[in-house]
Amino acid sequence: MNLQPISEDIFSRIVDVRRDLHTHPELSWNERRTQGRIAAYLDKLNVPYRKAADTGIIVDFPGKFADAPSVALRADTDALPIVEETGLPFASQNPGVMHACGHDGHTSMLLGAASLIAQDNDRKIPIRLLFQPAEEGASGAKAMINDGALDNVAMIFGGHIDRHYPLGTIIVTEGAVNASSDKFTITIDGQGGHAARPHETVDAVVVGSLLIMALQTIVSREVNPAHPSVVTVGHFEAGSAHNVIAAQATLKGTIRSQEQSVRDGLQQSILRIASSIGQLHGAHVEVDIEEGTPPVNNPSDMVKLCEQAARQVVPEEDVRELEVANMGGEDFGDYMEIIPGCYVRFGSIIDGTFPHPAHSSKFDFDERVLGIGAAYYHAVSKVASEEILKDLK
Ligand SMILES: [Zn+2]
Ligand SMILES: [Zn+2]
Repeated sequence: MNLQPISEDIFSRIVDVRRDLHTHPELSWNERRTQGRIAAYLDKLNVPYRKAADTGIIVDFPGKFADAPSVALRADTDALPIVEETGLPFASQNPGVMHACGHDGHTSMLLGAASLIAQDNDRKIPIRLLFQPAEEGASGAKAMINDGALDNVAMIFGGHIDRHYPLGTIIVTEGAVNASSDKFTITIDGQGGHAARPHETVDAVVVGSLLIMALQTIVSREVNPAHPSVVTVGHFEAGSAHNVIAAQATLKGTIRSQEQSVRDGLQQSILRIASSIGQLHGAHVEVDIEEGTPPVNNPSDMVKLCEQAARQVVPEEDVRELEVANMGGEDFGDYMEIIPGCYVRFGSIIDGTFPHPAHSSKFDFDERVLGIGAAYYHAVSKVASEEILKDLK
């Protein structure tokens, strides 16, 4: 299998960028050095770009059909608040910050694609590259959109490095590929008092505990089991002493789903159960739901374009589908609420090592995935351009 689909020269340049970004990771909305590194690479290519969303960059490769809608390719650039434990020679020198989600790789892949696209002299359709900050903060995509990232864009493509699949595979899946991710906070107001006189109180710990157990029945009893979904309470805080009944309790949690209708249903169920449990015990219960990213659902026509592109880079049998539902959130869904697109995954297991997952302090990937990603983005930009050309004719 050809695991090196791009020239040695471009590959070594993007590996250099990846290692440099990995050594100097920056959290969401702080990607200034990263932005400078991307700009420096683009300057060498002599490619027009502008800064966007404060710490992001938008690149525009013009096409012969200047007014035609463009094809957008997107990479995310931010790191996570994690203490790195990989032991890599190019490990983070920014204490407590780590590229543990592969966004250093995503950025480098897209720069590789920029080098390849820059070599296309007969480009007809404009190609736009989005270097998006703050994916982990989950507000970067929205900020890019507000800064015109999708203006006159027909389709958008993105992808994620994935340590569940072998190097050389590209995972192209129709339908749900990322879950929606919403946060909720529930505040319970009861009546505090002496631990020995519970009859004079409304115990917020008891109400909160009942509520946590009742929330478990949403996914198990109310949602169609064919639709993966999650309601997790990750934080429960109440009380101040062993002999005082707590007047207040706070629960915080996350809601994940792969369908908008399921997402709406989960939110309604939480509101209903919280208010009912409050009524049952005479406590005042308030629910605050903070909507995050929508689910990412790849439509079949976009999937076909991605499969075609992926087959130009890796053998047909290595263009695969997701083996299990992915409940991770991804703000690529914000773009796909506006225009069609498709989100893929790039297999990147390092042979003979334990596949530490993304967001782990030991996360790493086989760097040869950078060449595969760059070649894929280049290929999908061409396949999608052909599709847009058909519509223009
Ligand atoms: Zn992540
Ligand atoms: Zn990520």
